[in-house]
Amino acid sequence: MKRDLMTLELDLGDERPAPIPAPVALLIERGALFVVNHSGGKDSQAMYLLLRQHVPADQLAIVHADLGAVEWAGAYEHILATTAGEPIHVCRARRTLLEMIEERGMFPSPQQRQCTSDLKRGPIERTIREITRARKEAGHPAWGLIVNCMGMRAEESANRARLATFKLHAGNSKAGREWYDWLPIHAWSEADVFAAIAAAGQKPHVIYALGMRRFSCVFCIYATDEDLKTAATLATTRPELVNDPGIYRKYAGLERSTGQVMMMPKNGVRRSLEQITGVAA
Ligand code: SF4
Repeated sequence: MKRDLMTLELDLGDERPAPIPAPVALLIERGALFVVNHSGGKDSQAMYLLLRQHVPADQLAIVHADLGAVEWAGAYEHILATTAGEPIHVCRARRTLLEMIEERGMFPSPQQRQCTSDLKRGPIERTIREITRARKEAGHPAWGLIVNCMGMRAEESANRARLATFKLHAGNSKAGREWYDWLPIHAWSEADVFAAIAAAGQKPHVIYALGMRRFSCVFCIYATDEDLKTAATLATTRPELVNDPGIYRKYAGLERSTGQVMMMPKNGVRRSLEQITGVAA
C-alpha cells in the first residue's frame, strides 16, 4: 500500500489505527462533523471504513445522492448493511439524469459534466448546509465545522490525480461555516480498496463480482467498453440488479430521439450504445 502524508492509511493486519494528517487530527479534536459522501460503491465503502477507525461515531454522518432509475439497485441497502448506524441522509436532484438529457436534448459529456454537479455535488452540498443549520439550532458548539469526505482516487484519471487532497472550501465557508473538502483515499489503488473492504469482513456491492468496475450510474459517460457491455447484459438479463429494468432501452431510445450518442467517439469513430455493447435494446 502506498504512503502519502495527506492520506489516511488503513494498516491491514494492524490493530492500531494508522496515523492521520495533523490538520485532520485537529479538526477531529475541534469536533468537526465528517460527512461521508457514499454512493454505495467500493471507494465510498473503503473510505467509510477508514474514517470509522479515526473519527468518533458521533462526528460521522453519511450522505447518499439517490440517482433513482439510472443507478444499480440496492445502493441504499448496501450502505445500510455496511455502516454502523450513523445517520444516513438521502438526497435527490430536482430532476433525474434521463429528464436532464430529455430537456437539454443532449447527453452529459466529460467536458460538460453537469451530471455530477446536478445529481451529486449540488444535492449533497445542499444537504450538508441543512445539517449545519440543524446542528446550529440544536446548539452544537461545532455546528459549522464540516469536513466533506469524498472517495475520489488519483489512479482513476489524470483529472482526479490533480485534485487537492485536503483544502478549505472557501465558497461553502460562509454564514458561520468552516468547510473543508478531503479525499481520504486519494492515494489508494483499486487493490487497496478491495483489500480494506475484505479486511473489515465485508464485501463490495454484488455488481463488482459480476464484472463491473464502476458503481453509480449503470451507464456512465466514463465507462469502458467492457463495463458498458457488462452493464447492458446485466440490465437486460438480471432485472433485479437495476432500479429500472427498461433502463438500457431508455438510453438507446434517447440516443435515437436526440440524434446523439452517449459516449465520446473512440479513435474518431462515433458509436451508439448498441454498437458498443452488441446488445440489442
Ligand atoms: S456516474 Fe457517470 S454518468 Fe452518472 S453522474 Fe457520475 S459521471 Fe455522470
